[in-house]
Amino acid sequence: MGDYVICATAGNGAIRAYAATTSELVQHAREIHHTSPVASAALGRMLTAAAMMGTMLKGESDLLTLQIRCLGPLKGIVVSGDCHGRVKGYVFNPGVDIPEKYPGKLDVGGAIGEGYLSVIKDIGLKEPYAGRIQLVSGEIAEDLTYYFAQSEQTPSSVGLGVLVDTNTSIRQAGGFIIQLMPEATEEMISKLEQRLNTIPYMTDLLDMGKTPEDVLEMILGDMDLHILDKITPSYYCNCSRERVSKALISIGKEELEKMIREDHKANLHCHFCGKEYDFTEEELKALLEAAK
Ligand SMILES: [Zn+2]
Repeated sequence: MGDYVICATAGNGAIRAYAATTSELVQHAREIHHTSPVASAALGRMLTAAAMMGTMLKGESDLLTLQIRCLGPLKGIVVSGDCHGRVKGYVFNPGVDIPEKYPGKLDVGGAIGEGYLSVIKDIGLKEPYAGRIQLVSGEIAEDLTYYFAQSEQTPSSVGLGVLVDTNTSIRQAGGFIIQLMPEATEEMISKLEQRLNTIPYMTDLLDMGKTPEDVLEMILGDMDLHILDKITPSYYCNCSRERVSKALISIGKEELEKMIREDHKANLHCHFCGKEYDFTEEELKALLEAAK
């Protein structure tokens, strides 16, 4: 099953639902960043959330960024996504290694610890929208649930999961987001709560061979479920030599002069995809001219 995200409605439009399977893009991220199992799980959950939340954006060039800054050994995570399901991300400490919570359960909450989650939406306005919450558990799905309730006033249920195989490759990854619109009735809410309390973990569902459609069917099957859209997400980085050059120019004349004087060259690498960009002294001098 290749990666995909489905967007759906139920309850006559009073419920919005998203579900995703993302093991290929999470595996891709693991190969770029050489993440430990618990770091793969944390990054994979965030990338899966970004792939679904990206589809909530309206505009072609809108960009969503999710950031965690935390006191745990993982230190932090940054991911971004767009409306096409293109995502990228990195963790601050990819090698973090801590004991499992219990056998077979990676301790993502322990790797993250206390901290903050920020959601930034650049939708082409002068100032991007930004919401920030204190982490509830560091398990990411619970934190996003709290974020949606607090910052967006949208009661939501978020499930995210990454199953890392014994050889450290990504065996399963996926998630769902169910959101209640103001029109939702008490009856819908209690039915939903019941289902969500009894549904197995997302990774277990995927491992049993369930598809994102099956998962939404299990939760919303008798509530007038309509699948509206299906998107293929991917790990995609839009860095380029031109963008890196612009970033170098933006650090300013003095910094550039110092770089030329002391290092005679610059090697930069993209945090998101690991691509290396080398600049010779001559090239730096040209950038310095542009900075003036
Ligand atoms: Zn890149």
